[in-house]
Amino acid sequence: MTDDSARLALRERLAAAGIAAPSRAEAVVIDLAGDPPLGASERTIAEEEADRIVAALGAAMVAARAKQGVIAVRDREAETALSRSLALRKDEGHSFVSSPRPSHARSTTPQRRNEGVSPQTVEMVATPEPPEASRVVRVPAVWPSVGIDRDLGIDGAWVLDGERALDLDAAAFHRERAPRRLTVTGAVRRPGVLRGRFTVEEALAAAGGTDELAWAALDGGLLGGRLADPEAPVRSSLLVVLPAAHPHVARARVSLTDWLRRASSACEGCRLCSDACPVALDGVGLLPHEVIWTLVSRRDDATRLAAAAACAGCGVCDSACPSSLSPWALVDAVKARLPTDVTRPARGDVHPEREGRRMGVDLLLLRLGGEQAWRIPFRS
Ligand code: SF4
Ligand code: SF4
Repeated sequence: MTDDSARLALRERLAAAGIAAPSRAEAVVIDLAGDPPLGASERTIAEEEADRIVAALGAAMVAARAKQGVIAVRDREAETALSRSLALRKDEGHSFVSSPRPSHARSTTPQRRNEGVSPQTVEMVATPEPPEASRVVRVPAVWPSVGIDRDLGIDGAWVLDGERALDLDAAAFHRERAPRRLTVTGAVRRPGVLRGRFTVEEALAAAGGTDELAWAALDGGLLGGRLADPEAPVRSSLLVVLPAAHPHVARARVSLTDWLRRASSACEGCRLCSDACPVALDGVGLLPHEVIWTLVSRRDDATRLAAAAACAGCGVCDSACPSSLSPWALVDAVKARLPTDVTRPARGDVHPEREGRRMGVDLLLLRLGGEQAWRIPFRS
């Protein structure tokens, strides 16, 4: 089997798992620097699944014919674990590609690296360039990490987050998927990162329960998180449990109609939400203050509303609003009502003031009530 047919077989396996690899990308980025404030799930993946992440990077690079691969992290510990794994792979001088190969071509890769994989199903294809062209890079703790390809100087790279990279690893190497990570924090007795899938009540129990008589949970965290049904599966990588009377819970209970009413009377048009929006700073034509203005003035401006399709759901605009409105809730509601084939706004040049305007995780935590207000299992 030629390397091209091995690549094709790999791409077919990824497609069957719902992973559409670009036919050609200049670079692949695995973004493990994307934890929201209070979250530590991506960081835990970096530290505990380093071998799988490195293997996924190699497979993604082969699938997309990428010449470069970068794993982005925030912490030194994550950087150390991944750099060690990458160095081992470079020593071997190979990248994994799962494909049938003649028995004489089978790998002698140490068993540790093929954990749970039959040597009959995972073979090595000599593709020395991907590991040689791969690196681990520490990036600043900003959230969300929209535009990380530009931060790394590889505009237009194929970007995968940690969970997607673990999906890719499982599909590429026919192995059991590594467990999902879920950070549970807030008013729980044992804040930390869980492994597996949980309902809200199960996650709360696994985190030691709570001392609160009445509690609520925000699935997705304090920014862009939603009130969760206790019996529903957790959907995001971060669950924050709070006393039921907490101000963040009260905000999450405000109805869409109320947010619209409040915006109609209290939006100052200051555009601070748009100035902080990471998607707008990345050069995409999404300006939340314009979406709000279009809604409250009841204008029929399909183009401005269609820009909501690009919303990342990060909630940073909420933290920037001096009137305590929720631009996110309104933009998100517009996005949910757009037709599926709507044309998303194109990505243009990066905003010239992007660096100065991006929100660091520490600043976001301060705006959300200060670190002291939260039981933080780890620094983000
Ligand atoms: S939630 Fe707000 S800040 Fe985040 S992408 Fe959407 S509009 Fe921009
Ligand atoms: S930051 Fe708040 S007040 Fe200012 S334009 Fe945006 S929604 Fe309106």
